[in-house]
Amino acid sequence: MKQKNDIKVFISNRESSCDECKEELGRRAWITLDRDKGALCLTCADLDHLIFLPSGDAALTRRARKYSTLMAVVLKWSLTRKRYERQGLLVEDHALEQAEKECLADSEVRARRREREAERRAGLDEKYVKQFAKRVRELFPKCPRGREKGIAEHACLKYSGRIGRTAEAKTLNEEAVRLAVIAHIRHAETKYDELLAMGYERWDARDEVVGRVEQILTKWETSL
Ligand SMILES: [Zn+2]
Repeated sequence: MKQKNDIKVFISNRESSCDECKEELGRRAWITLDRDKGALCLTCADLDHLIFLPSGDAALTRRARKYSTLMAVVLKWSLTRKRYERQGLLVEDHALEQAEKECLADSEVRARRREREAERRAGLDEKYVKQFAKRVRELFPKCPRGREKGIAEHACLKYSGRIGRTAEAKTLNEEAVRLAVIAHIRHAETKYDELLAMGYERWDARDEVVGRVEQILTKWETSL
């Protein structure tokens, strides 16, 4: 089901900080506006697993939109034109992949994917990802094979811009790993993203899926 109103992400043009986690986001930060809370970073808004697809390729954009359950429109204020201008979309990785497959004849599309993959890998600290994945496996022995890598990569990307505030060791503690696994379960194993896409407030959507999340968490934790 597609939402009536697209979720909007703004590229800020001044120093901003997240009103939930209090992170200083610097200039040109990507934020969403929450009715109650104010500005939110994409991590707090639960949009940080989405991939940016810049405007420009209409066919690719149309297809990615079609396959992505959760999606956001990225807007930037134009100082010269005095209006918000669309920069592209944030879409789910699998949706973009599917869209790209259908556009495979287009060699530019392939080149862009390679570029994006290389960029993503460059932002990952391999050692940290391995450590984090190992912790996930230790604490959640029944987590389906291979999932720990995705969870670890996401955590690594999330913290990579935040070195200094969050020491590496701190992000490997049980609570941090648990939170990362919960976020993954929400997105991957429940209707959470669908609810957000339908316009649910984050906390209402979390309430809806909390039982299912707990159930899976317990299952993954059990070592027997
Ligand atoms: Zn935040």
